Amino acid sequence: MVATPGELAHDGAGSPVPDRITLRTRLGMVVAAGLNGLSRRLGAGQGTVLGGRAGLAIAPGGLAELAAGRRVALISGTNGKTTTTALLAAALRSHGSAVVTNSTGSNMPAGHFAALAAGARTGGPAVLEVDEGYLPQSLAALAPAVVVLLNLSRDQLDRSSEVRMVAERWRGALAGTPATVIANADDPLVVHGARDAASVIWVGGGVRWRADAAGCPACGGGIAYDGEAWSCRCGFRRPSPQFGFADGPAARTAVLADGRLVPVALKLPGAFNRRNALVAAAAAEVFGLSARAALESMRVVEEVAGRFALRHVRGVPTRMLLAKNPAGWEELLEVVTPGPVVIAINARVADGRDPSWLWDVPFERLAGRPVVATGERSLDLSVRLHYAGVSHERVPEPLGAVARAGELGPGQVVQFVGNYTAFYDLLRAGAH
Ligand SMILES: [Zn+2]
Repeated sequence: MVATPGELAHDGAGSPVPDRITLRTRLGMVVAAGLNGLSRRLGAGQGTVLGGRAGLAIAPGGLAELAAGRRVALISGTNGKTTTTALLAAALRSHGSAVVTNSTGSNMPAGHFAALAAGARTGGPAVLEVDEGYLPQSLAALAPAVVVLLNLSRDQLDRSSEVRMVAERWRGALAGTPATVIANADDPLVVHGARDAASVIWVGGGVRWRADAAGCPACGGGIAYDGEAWSCRCGFRRPSPQFGFADGPAARTAVLADGRLVPVALKLPGAFNRRNALVAAAAAEVFGLSARAALESMRVVEEVAGRFALRHVRGVPTRMLLAKNPAGWEELLEVVTPGPVVIAINARVADGRDPSWLWDVPFERLAGRPVVATGERSLDLSVRLHYAGVSHERVPEPLGAVARAGELGPGQVVQFVGNYTAFYDLLRAGAH
């Protein structure tokens, strides 16, 4: 049974929906909850987009109403936003806040509406990841206290704007925002996007993929790199970060804004996740939590929406990893531990229709390991692996591919790396 707006306002199960929420938005909330519940029951997905869209259509001003009265953090960038969102949410939650978050990764306005509507009875903070192209409009609608900017790299070539245009739009939107901006000092495109904001905290968030930032976003000249430092002849250069790491790329010992050194130990693998954690800790300080306490409480996070999880796929122990673009692969190659590797590539709308990005991934580093290519575009992948000198087998059906990899490395954990839909298809189909 679907609740009426009146029942939603006082359902007896929790606090009432605040009075400032208009009837129109309440109606949007009811429709969103009803449709999302239906979509989940029909197995049509994780159920946040359809209902959120309908809710927004009924109540276009609903986002601002639902966000009002609570502190909002927006997390954006091409890579790491789901993980950084999960880490910040975990830190705030462990210190007693009822956190509203879009943990299913629905990072456009419809997903924000669904998340905020579901949490309308709590006054706790909202930690929301935002698609990088939607950041300007989300800033306007949600009036965040904190905006976290991770990186900008090429992703979904056929439908995303060129990354410099995104950086330029960020710059325009962030100029004059009252929000505190937490920005990655290591990515020139991010620095360009944040440079006109009134309040910026720079973090040494790292960047392993520099091909998209070889040109200066300020003048078009060349950027020169010298270790962590970078600069252009026009004067545009890496800002000195308030938060960073004392041990460079290893990223195991953080330097906090007060100069104290703190070890960063997570259950999530890899230096890129430790850097995401430090960025999240800097954001937590704006919410009144110390960065040190925030980092400690992030240790409870073992997986993020199935990513990094150890699952059994048809009896084969399998590490579930998601990489959807060259920058993501660059990071992930660091944590793909020994054992057979299954690479699954699809090219549906959510993945980007053009799989030519595969040519930018340094697959050469997998040479000599047992590799199985799978997914709807396994043939494209197979050609790429061939030119990378990686001998491999091709098994187009993913469950069969994992089973084959299990045979190639008996007793070892299979490393499954899928792009977006390939990853979630396997998670739904066979990973328990
Ligand atoms: Zn320049």
